[in-house]
Amino acid sequence: MEATAGKKILVVEDEQDIAQLVRHYLQKEGFRSVTAMNGIDALKKVKEEKPDLIVLDLMLPEMDGLEVCKHVRSTPDTAMIPIIMLTAKAEESDTIVGLELGADDYVTKPFSPKALVARVKALLRRIDRTASTGPAHYRYGALTLDPTRHEVSLDQQEVLLTAKEFGLLEHLLRHRGRVLTREVLLNAVWGYDYYGTTRTVDVHIRRLKQKLPLLEDAIVSVKSLGYKLKDSD
Ligand code: CA
Repeated sequence: MEATAGKKILVVEDEQDIAQLVRHYLQKEGFRSVTAMNGIDALKKVKEEKPDLIVLDLMLPEMDGLEVCKHVRSTPDTAMIPIIMLTAKAEESDTIVGLELGADDYVTKPFSPKALVARVKALLRRIDRTASTGPAHYRYGALTLDPTRHEVSLDQQEVLLTAKEFGLLEHLLRHRGRVLTREVLLNAVWGYDYYGTTRTVDVHIRRLKQKLPLLEDAIVSVKSLGYKLKDSD
């Protein structure tokens, strides 16, 4: 059985016909699905249903898709849920904002439901590969991080990092290509009970870039949200 089968997809779309059609195709491919008709309902369903992926329409009543995306990404419990945004051609600039706010992919309307389901599968596979089966080593260009030995090297030369810098780098490498909010990084590296502010993350990112100059352009800052390590492949 395919790894994606049985996964739960939340479809957020106020146009009932489209929502129905998408659900139909998802179910045909072995997915479970839930729908939400507006942004507020979407956030409620995200919390209650804990979906494996969200198909999120951009234009929604109550709260638009960008706001929903921002909320999902800023809440540590939901931050890593993959999101595919649905946009209309005329909303292209919003699409770019959507990707900046942490959507993982987008599909332009009008779309074929079959193509959308293919994108859902591809994204689930991609994320499954990078996140759950953590490799023994992480490589990024000339950089290698060994989680078990707690070592980082650049061109085979060891680079000394503090525990927090190391944790931060490991988290970025494990989730490369995805937007990680400051809250999420803070929780992952410093822990939930840490009493600092999100500025701490900025300070450590800066130090990481000083010690490893190849990260200068590779770690991009995402408007008001957090950071992303560019996918190298
Ligand atoms: Ca809509």
